[in-house]
Amino acid sequence: MLTSPLVKERAVALGFDLCGIAPAGDFEELARLPQWLARGCGGRMTYLNRTARIRADVRRWLPPALSVVAVASFYDTDRPHHIEMGDPARARIARYAWGDDYHDLLGLRLGRLAQWMRDAAGPGFDARWCVDDGPVQEKIYASRAGLGWIGKHTCVVNAGRGSWMLLGVLACNIQLEPDGPAVDQCGNCRLCVDACPAGAFVEPYVLDARRCLSYLTIEIRGSMPAAQRPDVGAHVFGCDICQDVCPYNAVAPVARDACWQPRASLTDATLESLWAMDDACLAGAIEGTALRRAGVRGLRRNLAVAIGNAGPSLASALLPGEVPGTIQAPGTYSSAGRASQDDPMVAEHVTWARSRQR
Ligand code: SF4
Ligand code: SF4
Repeated sequence: MLTSPLVKERAVALGFDLCGIAPAGDFEELARLPQWLARGCGGRMTYLNRTARIRADVRRWLPPALSVVAVASFYDTDRPHHIEMGDPARARIARYAWGDDYHDLLGLRLGRLAQWMRDAAGPGFDARWCVDDGPVQEKIYASRAGLGWIGKHTCVVNAGRGSWMLLGVLACNIQLEPDGPAVDQCGNCRLCVDACPAGAFVEPYVLDARRCLSYLTIEIRGSMPAAQRPDVGAHVFGCDICQDVCPYNAVAPVARDACWQPRASLTDATLESLWAMDDACLAGAIEGTALRRAGVRGLRRNLAVAIGNAGPSLASALLPGEVPGTIQAPGTYSSAGRASQDDPMVAEHVTWARSRQR
């Protein structure tokens, strides 16, 4: 017989750090998504509007669902955090993207868990799972499964282990004993809200994605709003600041999973070292990582913006083209093997960055 303790034991054996069970209910917090979207906070993420009805209840995704198994994997490493990086020429990449792509790895493990559950449960078992890539409000189910509460920075926080966790959920048609929901322990703290460099929190617990650097550097496919480009600073893929400052992350464990260990080409990257790569090199550097979501073109765009923000000397040294009143430094990178640089969308950001030299 399939029981909650057995499922959790199996999840840990498969490499997950946490596993909890939530009922497949229509919790009141699931119903907040339409209001958030109506305020425009989802920006260009129109897929959220298209799938909002399904996201309101996991049973619209898997109609016979009775339980949701929520899993988490901790990915923090003993490398400097964004708020510890004083060098403005250092490229800031969200730490979840330093290792292997979590979609692939967690999805593979959830698939193995589903297979094991199918074997244990027998005929009639049905399940679906997703890792940040399905129409499920994963954080809410993770919180209801007791993995942690949704903090004021809108990430799930575990009191003993912090918030550097990647989540996945598996809905199934088996009635499993649920865990209790996690209790909010933010209290009077608002460090994350006040630390955000982009003022992205409309209020505690409510993020306007349009202002968030993660949205600007990852979710937006085309032109980045010019007025917001200075906010981006040296962030070329995502942002960790609101998690960096969270006191619960002072006790965050160092990841035991080899797959989360950082690739030197990403953690030690400077704006120059990334910009210097031709497109093939850049594609190689991000292969197998979550940075593929931005792709070479998106990354080149973000790098142009970050270089524009880094000050005149770096911009004039790295960006091609003449700038009236400046002397073009030798070693400027040519367009050879760098088609992304000439993409009209990217070129517009390069022009913007060059204009910052004046
Ligand atoms: S990820 Fe960065 S920009 Fe987004 S809310 Fe957190 S601190 Fe603000
Ligand atoms: S920084 Fe403070 S308010 Fe923000 S999530 Fe952590 S404990 Fe909660």
